[in-house]
Amino acid sequence: TDAPGVTPGPVHPSDRIDTSVAHPARRYNYWLGGKDNFQADRESGDAMAERFPTIRISALENRRFLQRAVGYLAREAGIRQFLDIGTGIPTADNTHEVAQRIAPESRVVYVDNDPIVLAHARALLTSSPEGATAYIDADLRDPEKILHHPDLRRTIDLSRPVALMLVAILHFVPDSDDPYAAVRRLLDALPPGSYLAASHATHEYLPPQVAEEAKAAAKGGGPHGIINLRTLDEFTGFFAGLDVVEPGIRSVAEWRAESEPQPRPSVVEVSMYGGVARKP
Ligand code: SAH
Repeated sequence: TDAPGVTPGPVHPSDRIDTSVAHPARRYNYWLGGKDNFQADRESGDAMAERFPTIRISALENRRFLQRAVGYLAREAGIRQFLDIGTGIPTADNTHEVAQRIAPESRVVYVDNDPIVLAHARALLTSSPEGATAYIDADLRDPEKILHHPDLRRTIDLSRPVALMLVAILHFVPDSDDPYAAVRRLLDALPPGSYLAASHATHEYLPPQVAEEAKAAAKGGGPHGIINLRTLDEFTGFFAGLDVVEPGIRSVAEWRAESEPQPRPSVVEVSMYGGVARKP
């Protein structure tokens, strides 16, 4: 009854998949050791690894942050509804799997704008019988489409708290597309007691020359998948008006990582911030 399918459309996702240019979802899948990537993604991933040799550690730590954040939200914050925008290609321990292991009645709406993720969406629609999952093919920069989508309305009750997950997606949206406004609009639609969980790549630990190169590449608009690195202050701006939970905005490697295998990778190796905050 509660299993909204993939958004129907006249175009099959594979018609929109361009394997000749690097895409963030496939490049991340490559760094994580997955198989759902093409030569252009691997070349782009290797080129970035030349500049930032610990990028695979960074990707893995980001993924671990996502899983710990969902664990915190389900177990300690009592959240049962998740809106996960920038889903990525499904891998082990996706948001609904982590949440439903803790609370089988958890309901998760996934959103991504990449046709390859749409093509894999069936793997995300494997809900526990008590809960529900849905997948929406949409863009973070179009919050109205997401918020009014019938599959979202069928799956999530916007009068009850929701965790908005924006994990490793905000750095794909340049300031010129005003990601701050999109996040505000999404949070405005959620009731008090809702949460934001987000992570973001930063240039603050990169050698200055590499940081400059990255900034110049992002400014030029560049090919698909360029990363708009931001400072801690800039990332913190996404949490405006929210109460950031302990331990605050930290390297993803350090966020509630006490039970992770020691020693932890350094903040320099990871170069990504993460945090979770509650809407008062
Ligand atoms: N959140 C997952 C995956 C991160 S990879 C994790 O942290 O493990 C980033 C994902 O964001 C990719 O799947 C990419 O397609 C998606 N993405 C990038 N820009 C987007 C946008 N403007 N709207 C929706 N999805 C976007």
